[in-house]
Amino acid sequence: MVTYTSDFPDRVLPKTNLYSFIASNPNKTSDSSTLLIDDVTKRTITFGEWKRDARRWATGLQSIGFKRGDVLAIYSSNQVDYSIAMFGPLILGAITTTVNSFYTVDELAFQLTDSGATAIVTQPESLATTIEAAKAVGISKDRIFLFGGKAIEGFQPYSSIFPPIDTPTSSLAPILSLDGDAAVDSTALICYSSGTTGRSKGVELTHYNLSSNLLQMNAYEHDIHPHDDRTLNVLPMYHIYGIMSHLLDGIYNGIFNIIMPRFNPEGFLQAIQEYKVKSLNLVPPQALVFIKSPLVPKYDLSSLRHISVGAAPCSKEFVESLLQRLPQIRFRQLYGMTELSPMVAQGYFHNCVLGSVGRSVSNQEIRIIDPETGKDVAAGTPGELIARGPNVMKGYRNNPQATKTSIDADGWFHTGDTAKVDKDGNIFVVDRLKELIKYKGFQVPPAELEDILLTHPHVADAAVIGVELKAEATEVPIAYVVRHEGKELSDKEVSDFVAARVAPYKKLRGGVRFVELIPKSPSGKILRKELRERLKQEMHDR
Ligand code: AMP
Repeated sequence: MVTYTSDFPDRVLPKTNLYSFIASNPNKTSDSSTLLIDDVTKRTITFGEWKRDARRWATGLQSIGFKRGDVLAIYSSNQVDYSIAMFGPLILGAITTTVNSFYTVDELAFQLTDSGATAIVTQPESLATTIEAAKAVGISKDRIFLFGGKAIEGFQPYSSIFPPIDTPTSSLAPILSLDGDAAVDSTALICYSSGTTGRSKGVELTHYNLSSNLLQMNAYEHDIHPHDDRTLNVLPMYHIYGIMSHLLDGIYNGIFNIIMPRFNPEGFLQAIQEYKVKSLNLVPPQALVFIKSPLVPKYDLSSLRHISVGAAPCSKEFVESLLQRLPQIRFRQLYGMTELSPMVAQGYFHNCVLGSVGRSVSNQEIRIIDPETGKDVAAGTPGELIARGPNVMKGYRNNPQATKTSIDADGWFHTGDTAKVDKDGNIFVVDRLKELIKYKGFQVPPAELEDILLTHPHVADAAVIGVELKAEATEVPIAYVVRHEGKELSDKEVSDFVAARVAPYKKLRGGVRFVELIPKSPSGKILRKELRERLKQEMHDR
């Protein structure tokens, strides 16, 4: 068996409540250090306030009956209060599920039901959607809370159930002790991912998964996070990449974190200049701003030191262009997956290998196998990347079958990504075996779009695959549709039909193609590889 491991020694991993671990302050951040600032409202939160208010929120949740195992949903774009809202349930041994703020009523209702959420924190602009979804799934109005300080139409701010600010710590809800195996078993977060196949599923990440992954990536990270680091948080906080790199790593390392509610190129560049931002965690289309935007020369970006890009492929040429535009920075790629908490591999700033996603994080083993035979491939040959370590999720919520398909009997998680490792141990992600499409870092599960297409009365069959849009450093979904015999249906009608039912990032931006037949295996599985080959050929012939 050929395994690839970290260059750094394994670390002793904490088996305790994730809140206790971070609040125990291993990196000696002062309570008065400002850790979070909202770029819009300028509200700030210090380390001491974060610790205290997460406990006050836990106490408020307890007062409305929240207990171990209950689930709170956060449905919002980035907020300075997000980490407080997220940690409150964890203190009680309850669970937080984070929801994409672009979700429609149906998408939100699905996640609320699937996760078993019984209370929601949302933002004022998402209140109408929240009310509708909550009604559909039977969550009462008094269990919907708002970010921001104001009540709206009778809906109260989440802070309305905090006990008074001077409540002694001894009167706040106690932190549930999760020492030993309890940390390994207790779910802290449920993030949604389609994994290697099918629709979105609830990925249960435990206290141990998350504190482990934090330390696994910090085996290297620790050396590069001086206490005066400043980062700009433009990754969506509902996604595990944003949670791990900003909310967990940021607070753990005492980093000053500027929160932007939503990414926009001008605000992004402006904030880097204004706050003298030093480090960034981005997805490729965000980093593309530095390469393509005519606005770049108008801003002073000289404070930037470190840029990490992850969550989607990033070519060697892309990195070269970025380094040309920002010669003062150090760059590295990150490779991860929600199911792996998420960090699997990280590049080194001091020795960036172009096009490589770096090397394994500590306390983890990686293998590259032939997905058909399960055997290790020869060194340098592409195969499926599988990983084993404390960061492998507990499982998919209420879906033991899907869990069994992705975590084998020996504990290896099968990523569905094709990768190869060079003679020096650098990992290159070269392709994807699985169905997943990623639009600007957001997951677009083809199965979900296919299910929607099949509900159209004139659609007899459908398949969705991804196509790369190099100019935008992203993939977009394209639909193959078989019309019912004798029925009229235009590509616009199909695109509009889907667009009306999904979050905007899932739209059929790659277009619609009408075909006579969807290629399928004898067992009825869509032969996506065949469709991809066909598309490649068509693009080549053009
Ligand atoms: P998610 O669970 O949303 O983080 O999506 C995980 C998937 O994103 C991985 O399985 C890969 O297919 C893709 N991905 C993440 N990071 C990278 C990367 N650095 N290069 C290529 N693909 C990536």
